[in-house]
Amino acid sequence: MARVAVIGAGVVGVASAYMLCKAGHQVTLVDRNAGPCAGASVRNGAQLSYAYGDALASPSLLKHLPGILLGRDPAYRVRLHADPEFLIWGLRFLANTSSARYLSNTRYLLQMAAGTRSLLQEVLDEFQMDFDYTVSGKMILFPTAASFAAAQSGYALKTSMGIRQQMLSRDEATAIEPALAHYRDEIAGVVYSPDDAAGRPSEFCAQLIGHLTASYGLRTRYQCEAERLLTRKGRVHGVMFRNYETLDCDAVVIATGYGTKLSAPFSPAFSSVWPVQGYSVTLPATEGAMQTSITDLKRKMVFARLGDQVRIAGMADIGRRRFAFEQDRFAALKEGAQAAFARGFASAEEQDAQSWSDARPCTPSSRPIIAPGKSRGVFLNYGHGTLGWTLCLGSYRETAGGHARPRNLTDTPAPGRALATRHSKGEENERQD
Ligand SMILES: Cc1cc2nc3c(=O)[nH]c(=O)nc-3n(C[C@H](O)[C@H](O)[C@H](O)COP(=O)(O)OP(=O)(O)OC[C@H]3O[C@@H](n4cnc5c(N)ncnc54)[C@H](O)[C@@H]3O)c2cc1C
Repeated sequence: MARVAVIGAGVVGVASAYMLCKAGHQVTLVDRNAGPCAGASVRNGAQLSYAYGDALASPSLLKHLPGILLGRDPAYRVRLHADPEFLIWGLRFLANTSSARYLSNTRYLLQMAAGTRSLLQEVLDEFQMDFDYTVSGKMILFPTAASFAAAQSGYALKTSMGIRQQMLSRDEATAIEPALAHYRDEIAGVVYSPDDAAGRPSEFCAQLIGHLTASYGLRTRYQCEAERLLTRKGRVHGVMFRNYETLDCDAVVIATGYGTKLSAPFSPAFSSVWPVQGYSVTLPATEGAMQTSITDLKRKMVFARLGDQVRIAGMADIGRRRFAFEQDRFAALKEGAQAAFARGFASAEEQDAQSWSDARPCTPSSRPIIAPGKSRGVFLNYGHGTLGWTLCLGSYRETAGGHARPRNLTDTPAPGRALATRHSKGEENERQD
């Protein structure tokens, strides 16, 4: 049994803590916030998109890039500026928009998502959990015949991987999800994934931590900002916090999302992760609300049913490492939602709407960074981009040819050796250089 510190109590850190507890380790979960799941995970789109693990960098995004840069797509806001890290991240992102890279990255993410799906079932078999989890399926609404036709290659990839999907007409989709009758715009076609799910990440994290504490002796330390790893002869033996307190351990998992302002190793390597800001609003469901998760491709907006509420999320703002809540972007999200559906959720203006914003920790390829760190016993698990909730459990299981399986965690190899055997060039995980 090793003493393992997991830094970061978002969905990825909590999922890592679960896997480590199950493997018999003594785990301490650390976060700088006052409780778990208070970063990018807390009020995200809530979709467990097992069938939609699509990489962000794609040929279709490349096609739309001029319009995005000219500010013609309301879902995106790009602020170009002369930050070398952002520019290099951007070039690496562009290199991933080729069809071959997109399909390879997407295949990788779909495999990881499948891992989450099966591991989540194990969690639910072991623990009583209530986080408004439903396997409600997901529908992607395509606005034009051309975009629906272009979806064919993704559909072929997914069906070849055994993922259940159907390409439906609007009428066929409305027969399954009557809320589509209230969708105000054209729908040229719908891709339906009946096995996709939704659930509240915040409740999932809080409840899983409670179970792990009771059943596996998980320890938690909140309001502790990890500042430095303590190493001896190249191996980690502790973590020092900002207040100079220390935590002794044999291994560390770094699950810090898009990282911190602090120096390495808690900040991602140069140009490997960039924050892409988004917004969400959570509203009471009203008559005619959707049961199925919906992605409105025209507005790049997602709708998920969570008990008696509907969570609406969207917007992708990129450019600055530091970001703030911008009222006009939140207003655009609310207006977009009302423009999409004539009914199904209360008006945000009339309600005490739960507004929220944070950033997706995006890598250029959309593959998370899953790799040994610079010191032995350190393991990186961050950069899950637009899909962290969907990937969180599979991400730990996917860990690289066994190098970071929980039982091997205290014997991670020298950096550079890990992962190299599993993928060909250009298909590797994002790395910490
Ligand atoms: C608008 C929006 C909608 C989204 N919708 C979906 C969706 O529908 N489905 C989906 O799968 N994904 C979605 N995502 C993506 C998903 O939310 C993220 O990928 C995921 O939350 C990342 O989880 P994480 O645990 O890596 O990061 P976080 O949740 O940010 O957790 C990292 C934690 O590390 C802590 N930390 C950082 N540095 C330190 C330090 N030095 N010491 C101590 N603690 C530290 C932070 O406080 C934080 O709590 C969405 C994201 C956004 C922004």
